[in-house]
Parts: sequence; C-alpha cells; structure tokens
Amino acid sequence: MSSTGFLSTSNLYEPEKERILRYIDQWLENGGERSPGWLVSLLEKRLCEYHQAEHCVAMSTGFWSLVASLRLSALDAPEVIIPSFTYRRLADVVFWAGKVPRFVDIDESTLAISPESVERAIGSNTAAILAVHPIVNCCDVSRLTEIAAKYAVPMVIDAVESVHETWQGKRVGSFDVPEVFSLHASKLINGLEGGYVCVNDSAYAGRLRDFRSRDKSNARRLKPGHWLASDMPDIHAAFALAGLDEIEENVRHNRKIYRAYQRELKGVAGIRLLAFDEAQQTSFKNIVVEVPGVSGEGRDRIVRNLNQADVLARAHYSPPLHIKSHEYPVLCPESLPATEHAARALLNLPCGFRVSEADVTLVVAMIKSLLSYVPGSCDG
Ligand SMILES: *Cc1c(COP(=O)(O)O)cnc(C)c1O
Repeated sequence: MSSTGFLSTSNLYEPEKERILRYIDQWLENGGERSPGWLVSLLEKRLCEYHQAEHCVAMSTGFWSLVASLRLSALDAPEVIIPSFTYRRLADVVFWAGKVPRFVDIDESTLAISPESVERAIGSNTAAILAVHPIVNCCDVSRLTEIAAKYAVPMVIDAVESVHETWQGKRVGSFDVPEVFSLHASKLINGLEGGYVCVNDSAYAGRLRDFRSRDKSNARRLKPGHWLASDMPDIHAAFALAGLDEIEENVRHNRKIYRAYQRELKGVAGIRLLAFDEAQQTSFKNIVVEVPGVSGEGRDRIVRNLNQADVLARAHYSPPLHIKSHEYPVLCPESLPATEHAARALLNLPCGFRVSEADVTLVVAMIKSLLSYVPGSCDG
C-alpha cells in the first residue's frame, strides 16, 4: 500500500551510505582485515559513552550476548527466572545457557516482568533472574535490583527494547548489572546483525571478551561452555557506528510517527495506544495498541485483515512462551493471568524508518473500518 510496499513493524533504519563508507575507509587505513576488531573497538568505546557504561563488549548477536551473560553470571543451580510475555526466543537463551527457564507473570499495568512474581519464584533452585524491558517503557529496575540483592541471586537485563531510554533519569546501560542489547536491523541501532553487553565490572567485561574471542586457544583455557566464537564483523560495526551518529534523526522520525498515531487514534473507541513515559528519555520506536475483548478473536481478525493488505501488523508477544511447546524442559508452576490477558489484547502496528505519516493515516483508517465490522457478516 505504501510506496515501499509492505509496512513493517521493524525499525529498519538506514544510515547515510557516505557515513558508513567513511568508517570502512578509516578501518582500511588502519590495517583493514589485518586488524580485525578495529572498528568493533571504536564502536564499543562510542557505546560506552552513549550508555554511560564503564565497559561494553560487542558480540555477533543479541541472542549470544544474552547466552554469554547468563553463562558468566548464573549460580550453580538449575533455574533461570524469565517472563513468559516477551521475545519469542528468550526460553531458548536459557536452554543454551544450560539452564531451565521458569516463567513468571508480568505486571498488568506496565506489561513488564512482575517483581512480586519474581520474588515468589526465587528459591534454592534459582541460578539467575533474566529481566527484560518491555517494548514500551522499562521494567522496574530498582525493585528487581533490591530483590536480586536480598536473595543474593545474579540478574541480567535484556535491555534490547530500551536502548535509548532512561529509568528514573538514569541511562539504560549504566546500571551495575550486565545489560544486553541487539544491533539487528529490526532494532533502534541497525548494525545489520550484532549485539553487545554493557557492564561496570572490568573483570566481567574481560570474561565476556574471552567468551567471544576468535582465539581458539581460549577453548582450552576457559571453563567448558565459557567460549563460543561470536565476534562481531567490522563491517557490521561500520553500520552501527553510522547509526549511532544519526540516532537523534532516527528518534525524531519515530516521535513524528508516534505523534501521528496519537492524533489519528484520538477518540477512536475500542482501541488504546500504549503511551511512552515522556518524563523519561525514550526512543518512541514501537507502536503497541490494545484492542480490548476477552477472546482475542477481534485482535486476530484485525491482524489478518491488515496483513492481507501488506500491513504487517503483529499480535504482540503472542503466543506467550509458557503456552508454546518446547523441546527442552520448562517450568511454569503458577498461572499467569496478566500474561494471558496481554497476549490476547495487544498488537504492534507499522512503525520505523520506512513508515510515513501518510501511512499512519491509511493504517488507522483501515483499523477504524475493521472495528466497525459486524460479526456475522462476511469476513474479508
Ligand atoms: C531481538 C531481541 C533479542 C535478540 O537479539 P538478536 O540480535 O536478534 O539475536 C533479544 N531480546 C529481545 C527483547 C529482542 O527483541
């Protein structure tokens, strides 16, 4: 429907080509392939400044950055506490870290991992907490940090969705726990593919560098499972550096799209736009709306109809992980009512670099006509 074809829910930011090439030239002048990791080091330095972190270690993907952080943090116990309403591969992360995921509920109002639910799940089997920032705003870092400290359980934060944000005025990436980010093309900073971890502990940063190293002798020197060739290619760092230079333009575009949705959805009955907390710094990256209704059928019908028109809206974090089937053991001893409600009610609408304000007007017009559809008549 738009000039670019499909309307995606991914950020897909494209930095200026000249800027990317300038970084690549800089690398070539400094040895190019004979100095692997040169641009990656520059990126790490820049990301430290951006996040106000002491150390940053870049790796091949966000996924392996999470696995590495869990492997290095977890206690010698079997379970890792994670939300169920989250990134579709989060349980796989725990599996690859050699642990069993234990699902907990979210907080109904923030949609973030619930600190109360985490506290109830902690026991002698707990190896770590893997907290995750939700797509809109942040999880309760202060409460979760208190709980982790109270029970002496290590915590890792999947901060992929909160890259540009602050929590109570403090930069995400600067908290004194491993915080993990992704540079996949769908995320705020597009490095084509890639991930990184921000930490303040220099010994921990050293262990992360050993973990990802190309140097195979590490495999013999390190504890089993504490090494996996997972370096980031320098070309990816060139993209990410250019994206980081242009972050303000990226966010400005996202804010414009968010404002357009606010305007267009105002007064539309039956739909609620999830609001960014503008008292904090935020990226305005994703558009999430709630379509109330118990069964989820109304939401799914809207998604289906939009998809047929090349509008790639998606059910938000649905199905939740605890109701998916897994080829490895998982634990879910409590019911997760807030998760199950959210998984039926929310959807992601088109956003990001390739979506224009005119696209927003069209998408909302389509939604309005779908909302006025009367069940029983012909479902297009
Ligand atoms: C995308 C994503 C990841 C994984 O990052 P990759 O770089 O794609 O491996 C992890 N957690 C969350 C919340 C994500 O959205």
